[in-house]
Amino acid sequence: MIADENKVNITTEILIIGGGITGTSAAFFLAQSGHEVILLERNEIASEASGLNAGTLWQTGWGTQPDLSSTLSMGSLEILQTLQLDLGYDIEFRQSGALKAIQTEEQLDFLQIEVQDLNSRGHSLNILTTQDARSIEPELGSKLSGCLYYYQDAYTIH
Ligand SMILES: Cc1cc2nc3c(=O)[nH]c(=O)nc-3n(C[C@H](O)[C@H](O)[C@H](O)COP(=O)(O)OP(=O)(O)OC[C@H]3O[C@@H](n4cnc5c(N)ncnc54)[C@H](O)[C@@H]3O)c2cc1C
Repeated sequence: MIADENKVNITTEILIIGGGITGTSAAFFLAQSGHEVILLERNEIASEASGLNAGTLWQTGWGTQPDLSSTLSMGSLEILQTLQLDLGYDIEFRQSGALKAIQTEEQLDFLQIEVQDLNSRGHSLNILTTQDARSIEPELGSKLSGCLYYYQDAYTIH
C-alpha cells in the first residue's frame, strides 16, 4: 500500500537489505526453500564490491576435517560449478588453478612447513620449482624461489 510518494508499506516474511553477493545469495537460497523474500537495493544489483572484485576463489580443498574456511571456499566452488555447468549461466567460470610467487628462500622454508601441514590434513597444495611454474606461466621471472600452486583455484568474471 502506498502511503505517500516516498514511503511504501510492504509486508513480507523476510526482508533483505543490499543486493550484493551476500544479500542476493541469501535471497536465492531462502526463496528456494520456500520463503517469501523481498530484497531492497539502493542502487543496482552488484553495484558495489560484488560487482568490482577480482572474482578469484582461493581454496585448498575440503581437507579431512572441514572447517568454516573450507566450507565457505569449497561450498562457493560447488555453487559456481552448478551455476555454470548445470544451470547453464555463463558466468565465465574457470577452474584454472593459481600460482603465488615465492620471492625468497626464507619464504620457501616457511611455506614448505605450511604446505606439509595442510596436505597432512587432506588439503591439496603444491610447491613448484620456478622451472615447473614457468611451464605453466612462461612470463614468470626466473629468479623466484618457487611458486605455490593452488591447482583447484577458480575464478569467475560475472
Ligand atoms: C577490489 C576488490 C577485490 C576483491 N577481490 C575479491 C576476490 O578476488 N575474491 C573474493 O572472494 N572476494 C573479493 N573481494 C571481496 C568481495 O567483493 C566482497 O567480500 C563481497 O562482494 C561483499 O559482498 P556484500 O554483498 O557483503 O557487499 P556489497 O557487494 O558491497 O553489497 C552491499 C550492497 O548493499 C547495498 N546497500 C547498502 N546499504 C543499503 C541500504 N541502506 N539500502 C539498500 N541497499 C543498501 C549496496 O548498494 C550494495 O549493493 C574483493 C573486494 C574488492 C573491493
